Amino acid sequence: MFFEKFDAVIAFLRKLHCNNYGIWKDTYGITLIRIGENVLNKHLRKLNKQKYAVVISPTIIQKINISSNLSMSCNCIRDLNSILSIGGALEHNFAKELIFTHHKDKEVHYVAVPVPLSNDSFCTNRSSHCLGRIEIPTRETLYPSEILIDISLLKNVNQRLNLMGLGEAIGFYYSLMDYCIVRKMLPPKKIMTIIERQVSKLALHSKRLNKRNWLKKLSMVLLLKCLVMRINRDNQIGAGGDHLLAYAFEHSQKIYNKYSVKKFTHGEYVFIGSILMASLFPEWQFGFFSLKNLLNFGRTAGLLKNQVISLLVKQPKMALVKLSLQLRPRRPTVLSLLSSKQIENARIKLNEYLKL
Ligand SMILES: [Zn+2]
Repeated sequence: MFFEKFDAVIAFLRKLHCNNYGIWKDTYGITLIRIGENVLNKHLRKLNKQKYAVVISPTIIQKINISSNLSMSCNCIRDLNSILSIGGALEHNFAKELIFTHHKDKEVHYVAVPVPLSNDSFCTNRSSHCLGRIEIPTRETLYPSEILIDISLLKNVNQRLNLMGLGEAIGFYYSLMDYCIVRKMLPPKKIMTIIERQVSKLALHSKRLNKRNWLKKLSMVLLLKCLVMRINRDNQIGAGGDHLLAYAFEHSQKIYNKYSVKKFTHGEYVFIGSILMASLFPEWQFGFFSLKNLLNFGRTAGLLKNQVISLLVKQPKMALVKLSLQLRPRRPTVLSLLSSKQIENARIKLNEYLKL
C-alpha cells in the first residue's frame, strides 16, 4: 500500500531540512535536492567544462538579476551533457519536452531551478507539448536529476509570486481528500496533519517568519506533494477536484472573456479551485482548511483581488462543475457525485462570504 511509503518521504524531508541536501531514490531514478543560498552559482561553476544549455526567459533574467555566467551555455543541442531550466512551469516544461523528444537515447543531466516557487512543476515528471491548452492533459516525460532551491534567488522575486505556490500546497489537501474519498480509502491522517500544520504556518505567519525560513518551508511542502505523487505513481493524488475546477475556471475565462480580464497563474487558479472545493465540501473542514480561512488568507495575501472575487461570484457553479468533469472525463473525482442541491448550497455560502 502506498500510504506506508509516506513515512519514507517524511523521513527524507526531515533529513533534507537538517542538511539542506538529500538524495531521493526510487524506481524512477535518483534526484539530488539542494536547498540554500547561491546554490545555482555554485552549480554553474562546477559545470565549467561541460556542454550545457540553460532554459530561461528574459523576464526571469530581469527578475532575479542573474550573473553573466549563463552566457557560457552551449547551443549545439545534440551534444549536451546537461540542461538547466530556471523559472516556472513554462521553462521546466520546455526543458522536459526538449530532453524527452531529442535526447531519449542519451543520458542528459537535467537540473530544475524553481524561480519563483509558484507551482510544483520543478519536481514532477509532467509536461505538455502544447502547454496552455487546458483541454489536453499533460503527459509523463521525465523527472529532474537535480533540483536546486536557491534561496538567494527566490528572495529577490516578488513575494506575491512565491505566495502563488502556497495555492498549489493548499490544493494538495483537497486533492488528497478527493483521491481517497472517491476510491473509498481513508485519508492518510499523518500526512494531512503535516500539510495542515505547515500550510497554516506559511499562510498565517507569512510576514512574521523570516523570508529565508518561509521560502524553505514552502519548498518543503511542494517537495512533499511531488514525492507523494511520485511514490503513488499517479499524479492524480496531487491534482484532484481543486485542479479540475481550476482548469474549468481558466477554460471558461478563456472562452467567455477571451482573457479580456487578466489571466492568472496556475497557483492562483488552484487556489481558486481550492476555495470552490471548500465551499462544495464543508464537511472536509480541518484546521486551516475552511472556506472562511481560505478567503481571509486570500484577501490578506493579495491573492483574492476584486477581479477574482467578481469572477467567483459571477461564475455559474453548476456549469463549472460540469465543465471540470468534461475536461478530464476519465479522472475519478468526488465532483461527479455532487447533487445540484450541494452545488446550490455552495454557491449561496460562497456569495455570502464574498460579499462580506
Ligand atoms: Zn498543479
